Amino acid sequence: MIYLDNNATAQPHPEVIEAVRECLVNNWQNPSAHYASAKAAHEVVEKARESVAALVGAHPDEIVFTSGGTEATNTVLNTWIHGRNDNQMQGRNERNGYGSDCAVIATLTTEHPATLRTLEAGRQCGKCATLHVEVDRRGLPLIDVWEEALQDATGATFCMANNETGVIVPTETLVNICRRYEIPVHVDAVQAVGKMPLNLDGLGVDYASLSSHKIHGPKGVGAMFVRRGMSIQPLIYGGGQEGGYRSGTTNVPGIVGFGAAARIALEHMQERIAYVSYLRNKFEMELLKHIPRISINGHDAPRLPNTSNITFEGCPSEGMMLLLEIEDICCSVASACKAGNHTPSSVLTAMGLDSAEAKSSLRFSFSSMNTEEEVDRAIEVIVCSVNSLREVQSSHSGPVIVYKP
Ligand code: PLP
Repeated sequence: MIYLDNNATAQPHPEVIEAVRECLVNNWQNPSAHYASAKAAHEVVEKARESVAALVGAHPDEIVFTSGGTEATNTVLNTWIHGRNDNQMQGRNERNGYGSDCAVIATLTTEHPATLRTLEAGRQCGKCATLHVEVDRRGLPLIDVWEEALQDATGATFCMANNETGVIVPTETLVNICRRYEIPVHVDAVQAVGKMPLNLDGLGVDYASLSSHKIHGPKGVGAMFVRRGMSIQPLIYGGGQEGGYRSGTTNVPGIVGFGAAARIALEHMQERIAYVSYLRNKFEMELLKHIPRISINGHDAPRLPNTSNITFEGCPSEGMMLLLEIEDICCSVASACKAGNHTPSSVLTAMGLDSAEAKSSLRFSFSSMNTEEEVDRAIEVIVCSVNSLREVQSSHSGPVIVYKP
């Protein structure tokens, strides 16, 4: 298999697998218990917290472990939507014309469903209004529209690096505007973590969502960054674990695996960035050289080094996916969370692509576990697939049927 879908999930690193195994054997106790053996389980969790904090430029006490990025985002946004409004927020709502009980959240049109659907659920119960700030053709937010939205907003949330295109938004600029209007700001850093240097404390964000399985760690574990001095309302109540912010018996093996993945990601950050950039750039250059009428979405914006989102004119993405699958090459039509849904990608249409262009686009995402031979083979198969599809499309008006052996 040639796995080029690392933004959906990344294969666990061998050292992560070993760390989880060792933890299940030696540190299976409940870390909240008081006997000596449970203390060791507590210590490995705290060590993992230090590793995750170091990777994202935070203090360990600013890291709250969760079941993943989705839960972290839901917790922060629901704090704003269902939490008690402070005086400052009520004053703002009196001016902006929304009810005093309504959170007004500024976000981007290219957000992940974890954000968009949480905001939509808040809207449905009459507790949230969303101000969707548009992006340009490159996938970058319109700064003056962002600033305008913040005049009315009571909270702001955006994705630092887009999961479908890899486009990196100007976080510092967006956060500085939030600071100017004294608006709390949350960032979805799920795709940014481990793929670019991060300093959440330095950036001045208040909250962030992090995930383990995008950096070769286990699934079902992630974290919420809560800046010192900021508070959060739990989504899950119970035994008061994670400082009361996230109850439930601690997922020690998952957290230890996340910690190991974070430590490795930090140690190898520069070398991984250089390697995946090389693979991605070679991939794009060769495809551009050999295939006419293709475009790389977000190519003129800062991008994650591992992500390539390409529109192959005249090649429906489902047909392309089938041809690639026959050769055991895995990539993605849109984000994995929307699999099975054949409407055009809302991220690409937000960037101005029309429906046909968006439906002829594929995402390839690389990792340090890919080899150059895999990339060479993928290039070869993609060139052949595009040629076959275009040939069939030009000679037939009917549907293209692909027989899978
Ligand atoms: N945010 C972004 C940008 C993502 O790409 C994903 C996963 O696809 C998530 C949030 C959700 O993270 P998790 O799978 O840890 O819940």
